[in-house]
Amino acid sequence: MNQLAEIISYSPSTGEEVGRYPNASEATIHELVARASAASHHWRALGFKGRKIILKSWAHYLAEHIDELAALVSAETGKPSSDAALEIAVGIDHLSWAAKHAGRYLRNSYRTPGVLMANMSTHVEYSPLGVVGVIGPWNYPVFTPMGSIAYALAAGNAVIFKPSEYTPGVGHWLGESFNLVAPQANIFFVATGGPDTGSALTKSAVNKIAFTGSSATGKKIAAACAENLTPVLMECGGTDPAIIDRDCDLNRAAEAVLWGAMANAGQTCVGIERVYVHEEIATRFTETISEMASELVVGHDYGAMTMPKQLPIIDAHIKDAVRLGANFVVGSAESVQPPFVLPTIMVDVPEESLAVAEETFGPTLTIRSVASMGEAIHLANASKYGLAASVWSKRNGKAIASELQCGMVSVNSVLAFTATPTMPFGGVKQSGYGRIHGPEGLREFAYTRSIVATRFNTPLNFATFKRSVGVDNFIKRLIKLLNR
Ligand code: NAD
Repeated sequence: MNQLAEIISYSPSTGEEVGRYPNASEATIHELVARASAASHHWRALGFKGRKIILKSWAHYLAEHIDELAALVSAETGKPSSDAALEIAVGIDHLSWAAKHAGRYLRNSYRTPGVLMANMSTHVEYSPLGVVGVIGPWNYPVFTPMGSIAYALAAGNAVIFKPSEYTPGVGHWLGESFNLVAPQANIFFVATGGPDTGSALTKSAVNKIAFTGSSATGKKIAAACAENLTPVLMECGGTDPAIIDRDCDLNRAAEAVLWGAMANAGQTCVGIERVYVHEEIATRFTETISEMASELVVGHDYGAMTMPKQLPIIDAHIKDAVRLGANFVVGSAESVQPPFVLPTIMVDVPEESLAVAEETFGPTLTIRSVASMGEAIHLANASKYGLAASVWSKRNGKAIASELQCGMVSVNSVLAFTATPTMPFGGVKQSGYGRIHGPEGLREFAYTRSIVATRFNTPLNFATFKRSVGVDNFIKRLIKLLNR
């Protein structure tokens, strides 16, 4: 079947067309990778200081045009433009941080050679990989891919970004804005298109793929990358829990958990989907959060669902919970009202139900009362996902956090790690592997090169067929001495 020449993005709120963009073919992808690969040497040669100047001017441009970009994000995703502006602001902060700190975290690291190799000098270099392919989702079309794009560029790589087919306009805008500030050509390409375009990127000669999207697509991409042993960074889905202890600030917990669950219509990879609350405060917590949820105004506090095909999935999760005995404290079995989903909070939802076990990606929440924090930790960890969590406790927050099998935890807050550029971002289990953001995020887009150089020659030459028995005996005596 021939690939369509164009993809069209529509407003989820009105159904109107927002824009048309090329559906980049396999041949186009190969051509872009070749051009980026050739240009990457110049970008690398600029060094940290040279790249910092350009990336900072891009950050400046984005900040100056935040309203324009927010309007486009809002048009393509359906989210309120204030939420779009918040997402862009955090994305710019990451870009700025990566530009400023790449030199510090990717500079040569000098090591001690050890007693056996005392005549050597030893250091590790963090070399750019070359060309990084970034495949992004639609839910945070600026913030999320920026976690890979900014850090990969700052580390000295050229980047080819394949935005989601639901937000091609945002991707295109980012590419154009970079070209306005960067005097170098071919360093940052945006290849709009659908899954086939993404698939072509995974099979191309890129040196790494940074993928953000669903775990199901992540598995296909990991398999495709395995063909060429192309390294891949996986930022996938989750069913993030909030754990609420009896000594928490209950009002603050309810307010933040509600926002963590329902902001962006629940279309947040690190959004909260399940609550485990201590039985001593469970009734009060459920009443408080339900009261707050009933005040939400759909269409104002959050918008239409971006992807129409997510609506039947949310509906199926709600109906499955009802079949298994769930009760509604907010919303109903008819909460899905295209293009919106009404706030929905359920109790008595079994752990094996779709709503608890799978990513719902809608403004829904399940609440379960637990006898102890041990039980809450056990249930939180029982998931096949392990992206992030939120813990609410005045005394034990950090201790509970350390027991959780996930990549990020906010204590007495929600989603706090997203806006903290120094902190690595990523998950475990089926939520993925590798890290964006922070020093780890910079190193994700570099490879280590160990350089061991002779400082002076010694009579103890190991690397020769003429090695004497005396040298062998000396090594044995030395290693015994060192390991007494
Ligand atoms: P998706 O998996 O449907 O698509 C993501 C991207 O992959 C899109 O650009 C798509 O075109 C591309 N793609 C699809 N099939 C492909 C293939 N075979 N080869 C290459 N590329 C392919 O995800 P989505 O619906 O856009 O995003 C929502 C998902 O993303 C949710 O599961 C959410 O949890 C996850 N997400 C994770 C993070 C994180 O950082 N962990 C952040 C945001 C979103």
